Amino acid sequence: MSTLMTVSRLDVRYGQKLAVNQACLDVAAGTITTIIGANGAGKTSLLSGLMGLAARSGSIVFQGRDVSDEPPESKVRRGMILVPERRELFGSMSVQDNLLLGAMAVKATRHSRRDRLDLVYKKYPRLSERRTQQAGTLSGGERQMLALGRALMGNPRLLMLDEPSLGLAPNFVNQMFEWIVGLREEGMSILLIEQNARLALDVAQYAYVMRQGEISPRADAAEMRSREDIAAQYLGPR
Ligand code: ATP
Repeated sequence: MSTLMTVSRLDVRYGQKLAVNQACLDVAAGTITTIIGANGAGKTSLLSGLMGLAARSGSIVFQGRDVSDEPPESKVRRGMILVPERRELFGSMSVQDNLLLGAMAVKATRHSRRDRLDLVYKKYPRLSERRTQQAGTLSGGERQMLALGRALMGNPRLLMLDEPSLGLAPNFVNQMFEWIVGLREEGMSILLIEQNARLALDVAQYAYVMRQGEISPRADAAEMRSREDIAAQYLGPR
């Protein structure tokens, strides 16, 4: 399987604090790769470092090109698209305008924007029903749907999801994970950051664990799920 992204010796710092320490990871094309780990382990910082949103050093090769020093907007144009933990929607703007912002970042033509919008509405009819509604009036689940839809408007090659289950009611979490699996079945490559390790390892092909800024070697997700040390620390009772 071809490698979509290779990250080598990534450090992320906040002043003196080293939040990510020499992280190395690969994302294989067409897979879900997950990074699990406790609150504060450095998972969000790693994504910020990848996108160039935090001070970092190390190398990032995406689709065979060294993008380490590129600014976030050029990474977005290459298809590295992040759905941040806080969703970052514009609450006073309509659902549709929030979606269109996702296409602006990639300088889509009006025609391709319309096609993407149709595709997102087809995938998530609830967004279509609410297209004129202010994003701030949506439920938690609908906001997460909108954040995902906005990311899809940018035509991602690599979709990075930071804690998509956070703050969602349990049945909506399952729905969210069904969408994630559906996207992968359509060929999307996904880097999934999750504290809900059981769900993440159920849907992923490859997995890493982060602890105190350090990332483990890559494992098969199924193998990691069956490891007793992982089960004891991250999986909890079923
Ligand atoms: P969470 O699930 O809570 O987001 P995480 O695994 O994503 O946890 P990070 O948010 O990346 O972890 O945090 C890693 C470490 O970096 C923590 O010790 C955190 O306090 C610290 N940190 C995060 N953001 C900043 C910041 N902007 N300034 C200073 N320290 C930060």
